[in-house]
Amino acid sequence: MGLGAFLAAVTDREKYIAEEQREISEVRTKPEAEKTEIYEIMEQYGVGRDACMPLVEALASNEDQWVKVCISMFFVHAKLTSLFRSS
Ligand SMILES: [Zn+2]
Repeated sequence: MGLGAFLAAVTDREKYIAEEQREISEVRTKPEAEKTEIYEIMEQYGVGRDACMPLVEALASNEDQWVKVCISMFFVHAKLTSLFRSS
């Protein structure tokens, strides 16, 4: 791994850790808002809340897994948004 890739990996890891702390606190203090975040992301892919709800409820029933799902969605969505942002 070159220096640039190494530094990018360190930065990604730091971003991940920061996001993980944020998501853990969010799923504990405002679980409904966290579900709404996922619904809003999925709506952008044309999947409505009613269709998502059983999946979201099943994922949210295990806190460790739910935090991972929320972090994944955050990073994938942020990446896609930055790739396709018109500037
Ligand atoms: Zn969140």
